[in-house]
Order: sequence, then C-alpha cells, then structure tokens
Amino acid sequence: MSNLGGGLRSVDWASTKLEHFEKNFYIEDKRVAALSDREVEEFRRTKEIKVQGRNVPRPVMSFDQVGFPEYLMSSIRAQGFDTPTPIQCQAWPMALTGRDVVAIAQTGSGKTISFALPAMLHINAQPLLAPGDGPIALVLAPTRELAVQIQQECTKFGSNSRIRNTAIYGGAPKGPQIRDLQRGVEIVIATPGRLIDMLETQKTNLRRITYLVMDEADRMLDMGFEPQIRKIVSQIRPDRQTLMFSATWPKDVQKLANDFLRDMIQVNIGSMELTANHNIQQIVEVCSDFEKRNKLIKHLDQISAENAKVLIFVATKRVADDITKYLRQDGWPALAIHGDKEQRERDWVLGEFKAGRSPILIATDVASRGLGTSYFIF
Ligand code: ADP
Ligand code: MG
Repeated sequence: MSNLGGGLRSVDWASTKLEHFEKNFYIEDKRVAALSDREVEEFRRTKEIKVQGRNVPRPVMSFDQVGFPEYLMSSIRAQGFDTPTPIQCQAWPMALTGRDVVAIAQTGSGKTISFALPAMLHINAQPLLAPGDGPIALVLAPTRELAVQIQQECTKFGSNSRIRNTAIYGGAPKGPQIRDLQRGVEIVIATPGRLIDMLETQKTNLRRITYLVMDEADRMLDMGFEPQIRKIVSQIRPDRQTLMFSATWPKDVQKLANDFLRDMIQVNIGSMELTANHNIQQIVEVCSDFEKRNKLIKHLDQISAENAKVLIFVATKRVADDITKYLRQDGWPALAIHGDKEQRERDWVLGEFKAGRSPILIATDVASRGLGTSYFIF
C-alpha cells in the first residue's frame, strides 16, 4: 500500500487568512450571446450535451468563440484540430467562469485540454511564483502513463506562454522530479502516492494551488486512492476551483464530488445515467451444463426477433466448433472463429458477421473489439 500521508500536518483553513485570487475569465462571445435558447438547446441536443446545476454557461461552437488568447489559439491551430469536441464546447465556458465543474465523457473525447487550457489562463492571471512557492494548478491522475500523457498535452499548449509543468509519479527516480519541483513549476500532474511523498518530505507544497483537477476520478477510486486524495485535498485552500473529470459517474465518484466541489455545475456527454455501460443489460443464468443449449436457443429465439448480431464466447476451440455445428443443424446462421482457423478464413467470417450475413458468431477470445455487436453470450 502506498503512503497514506500520515506525516502531513492538517491545516486549519477556518483560521487561515486567504488572499483573494481571480478565477472568472469568461466573456461570452457575441455570437454565443445572440443565439436563442432554442438554438442552444438544439446544439446541445445534437452534440448529446447534458448539463446540470445553477447558471450553466452556454456552450461554444468553435475555438474562436471561447476567447482564448493568441498563444493558445496558435497551439490549437498547430494541432490541426477543426472543431472543439462536445465536452470541450461545454466544459470550456464552465471552467473559465471559475466554477466547480464535473465533466463526464467517454475516453478519447478530448477531456485533457478541456481542463488544461483553462488551467493556462488561470495560471497566467495569478501572481508569478516566488522562490519556495509550490504549483498553482494540480492535476491528480491514477497512473504514471496518464500523468505523462497529460503532461505532454500541457507542454504542447503551455510552452508558448512559458508555463512550466512536471509529472510526479511512483516507480521512477525522485531526483529529477524533486529538481523540477524546486526549480518552480506552475502545473504539477501527479499520482497520489508519490505526491504525498513529496509533500511529506517538503519538496513541494500546495499552498498556492487554486486550480485542482481530478482526472479519471472513477479510475482513481477503483485503484483505491480515495484516502490519499482526501489527504491531498485537505492541504489545498477550500476556495480553490475544483474540476472533476471522469469517464463514468458511479456512486463513489458522486460522493467524492459532493465532498470536494461547491455549487458545482455538471456536463455529461451522451448520457446522464450513473455508469458508463448504461446501455448494457446483463442477464445471468445459473444452470447446469446439460441445460445450457436449451437456454442458448431460448435467448437466440428472443434476440433473432430484433435482427441483432450476437457474439457467443466460448472457452475452447472444440466447443466453438461443436456449438456452431449444433446451431447450423438447427438452422441458425452461425459461424465460428478461433485460433485454429487460417487468417483468411477468420477475416472472411468476421466480414460475414460485420455485414450481417451471418449474424451469429461463436468465438474464443480472438475476437472481441470493434464488431458492433448488440449481444454477448458467455
Ligand atoms: P480523454 O481524456 O477524453 O480520454 P484525450 O484528451 O486524451 O481524451 O484526447 C484524445 C485525443 O483527441 C488526443 O489525441 C487529443 O489530442 C485529441 N483531441 C483533443 N481535442 C481534439 C479536437 N478538438 N479535435 C481533434 N482531436 C482532438
Ligand atoms: Mg483523459
């Protein structure tokens, strides 16, 4: 188990005088202001943007409506991005108003710059770091890989304005990380355990943090980081701006948001449901081996009425062939795919399945992703 931060002194925030800081930088673009409520609603609907909370700002529809300074616009152009992703359209105005934000959108939807670009504006509006100051923005992330990815994005977009960053994670030498921290960095991207280590040994401090991001909050909780996260957040001034990004929105993430965010506004892309897999219904049948085939046929009967594709996973190549034979004899359009088949045949089978000409596929785990399947039977 990693360091729980028992060595950190707790801060009595109630009796600490906090200096005022700026966190609202948002000026709504004229074109956004000119839209009717119906147009805004329609835009959100087409992008599957759902919002919750008090006074949620309107989404933007293009990069130039955000009001980003030229140093960020030129970095965006350099990336060759055409339009903001749905989460960016809504999260940028939300983050730039200085509000506490929950943003839920699936992996690959562009969440990183949703929080990283507003972080740059936030940092540029704060007094310069003095010797001994810790970072202004802290991004907590579950893994080293993710911390490094976030750091790369921050470097891409922050270098024009000389915003420095470092990634602090376990499993790597501390020396270079300590050096970065002590040289002064505006953004720290950290996994919880190593950050606590750096705090306890006073290599850095969180006294200047006014912009806190928890990225992949769901994954951090799955990995058991909750005690560390609580310890870290307790070291940060309570009037900070807090943003939580997650691919899913289960109960434990909601609880964390309720504990750490104030008067929060929320955006979900796709669905307001509680978990990522809201559109997956799981049916578990407990039965003997002897009953399996009848149950299988019963499910196939039901499913076939919907014209859907079915992927049946089996443990062995032999069972795959047996079931395929059994189903074909019964008149079902089934084909098998497994490691004993030649690549050419596997490709052909997958082609037939994807095209819907043979909508039942029996497979060992050689096939799993990208098949556009509606039903999985294990
Ligand atoms: P997430 O954190 O939601 O999983 P990322 O922030 O890692 O997603 O972004 C996924 C990829 O999309 C990255 O390669 C990123 O550079 C790219 N990307 C981000 N925003 C845009 C955009 N507006 N247009 C095109 N690509 C984008
Ligand atoms: Mg991400």
